[in-house]
Amino acid sequence: MKRMLNEASAFREEMVAGYVSAYGRYLQRVPGASGVMANDTPAPGRVSVVVGGGSGHYPAFYGLVGQGLASGAAIGDIFTSPSGEQCYRVAKAVDGGAGILFTFGNYSGDVLNFGMAEARLRAEGVDARTVLVTDDVLSASREEADHRRGIAGGFYVFKSAGAAAARGDRLDDVEAFARHANARVRTAGVAFAGCTVPGQDEPLFSVASGQMEIGLGIHGEPGVRVAEQMPAREIAVMLVETLLAEAPADAGRDVAVLVNGLGGTKYEEMFVFYNDVAALLDQSGLIPYNPLIGEFVTSLDMTGMSLSLFWLDDDLKPLLDATASSPAFTSIGPDVEQATASRTWAAAAGTLATDAVATSEEDGIPGGKAGESARAALRQALATIEEMESELGRLDAAAGDGDHGAGMVRGLRAAVQAIDGFGGTARRTFTRGGIAFQNAAGGASGALVGAWLIAIGTGLPDRDEAVDATALALALDQALATLQRLGQAEPGDKTMIDTLAPFSAALNQAAAQGMEISQAWAAALPAAATGMLSTIDMVSRRGRASRLGERSRGVQDAGATSIYHVLHAFGVGFKE
Ligand code: ADP
Ligand code: MG
Repeated sequence: MKRMLNEASAFREEMVAGYVSAYGRYLQRVPGASGVMANDTPAPGRVSVVVGGGSGHYPAFYGLVGQGLASGAAIGDIFTSPSGEQCYRVAKAVDGGAGILFTFGNYSGDVLNFGMAEARLRAEGVDARTVLVTDDVLSASREEADHRRGIAGGFYVFKSAGAAAARGDRLDDVEAFARHANARVRTAGVAFAGCTVPGQDEPLFSVASGQMEIGLGIHGEPGVRVAEQMPAREIAVMLVETLLAEAPADAGRDVAVLVNGLGGTKYEEMFVFYNDVAALLDQSGLIPYNPLIGEFVTSLDMTGMSLSLFWLDDDLKPLLDATASSPAFTSIGPDVEQATASRTWAAAAGTLATDAVATSEEDGIPGGKAGESARAALRQALATIEEMESELGRLDAAAGDGDHGAGMVRGLRAAVQAIDGFGGTARRTFTRGGIAFQNAAGGASGALVGAWLIAIGTGLPDRDEAVDATALALALDQALATLQRLGQAEPGDKTMIDTLAPFSAALNQAAAQGMEISQAWAAALPAAATGMLSTIDMVSRRGRASRLGERSRGVQDAGATSIYHVLHAFGVGFKE
């Protein structure tokens, strides 16, 4: 696969730099963060709408930052949620004092990371709310509509919220309009071929010739079912019928229509498709309102497209009509005078702290042997996971988006860097490393494994002399509980919990028998291995892979695998 690329590891950074340099007339970089903010932020007294997610989806999400649209966007690595720290920094930079509305697609990594930013803002007294985009009708049944993921229909949610904020609505109303917009937009799509992450040789999934995927995911997750390739008009019938079955009870005749290209599809093909869609809507007595044909949420170079219908009413129509100007979407509405009046530049945003690792009083406490073992454990974990990076990516690609290996390596590299030259306790070694991991890794596992490492740390005694197998087993119990509270997964859901829960139980048993740390750890590892292998036969019920239902069976879970190897490596480190 040929790409315009320098080093794959610098891809996001160089992409953001080029973007900001080109579009300084709309937006600028958030100092010290991977994110952008509109030039009219922070606007005192105005609500800020913050969007975001992984990259690889342009113009989602940062293409929609500008006047009358999103105030800011947090930008993650390819297909990987930005970290909680990044989301927080973007929100802080755009905050005009009237509150923050976070709105983004319903993916576990984004939910976890934006959720952490929201909690942190609230703890500081900033009113922050979240509206998840859940427009993808094929990703879950109508009974489980809240679990659906967000795809191209998010455009209408961001547009509605951004327009409401720009005209000065209060946070309660901006949130309510965003929810209302999300309740009235539905999307369904098809993919003809998968997509390839820059720096990789193989696509994340492939579609056999003569076939297509129905209900694809925008992170290269395969569709929910495979069908024979159909002509455009039959695809139009299938998708229009699927969406009309979801029309709200009070639907009027006006419906906004969006045909979204996934990144590798020609506009001409979208026009062919729209031609069929328009005829079908007409037969159903609907009037397409300001149709939009183009790319709104892409999936790198995936071919295929989605159709969104947005049932308008008296509240939503003015929000859709309102003026907006951003790099990827501009429209001039009847409110143009009002929109240009509130232009203030963001020089006042100031520089945010760039030090990702918080320091603590406990940093001053010198560590002993346990501190050294903890650092050896993290270094060993990095060495092991670096070797497994592509294997973990392959496992994650089978049912998820293929980024798991890269995320784990990024997180562990940051963790090891954060403890380089640090001589403190095991407790602080794990908390320091965990915070750095969480900030750097992104994605669901970034938030979860980061929280697990931090919780191992906070579960340990603050003096290294008191760390024995029993204390360590207790810390692992607490870390498991933290992870489950955060991710809501149970054993059997096909996640890293299936490795960690049996491991923690076995470690407690071994400690109770009076074993030393490294002996107890070695005695508990077989239970972790059995747990990891048991995920092969499970159907995923948590995280990205859960959308695939039965299709997720047969592949060992990526997170269960990586965490097993982390545990194994910790055992090697503890022996040093
Ligand atoms: P993302 O899903 O954001 O791409 P990763 O690919 O890095 O994140 O991690 C995927 C792994 O995370 C899964 O294989 C699974 O083990 C784990 N995981 C996902 N969601 C949860 C959850 N809610 N609780 C525990 N583990 C989870
Ligand atoms: Mg993944």
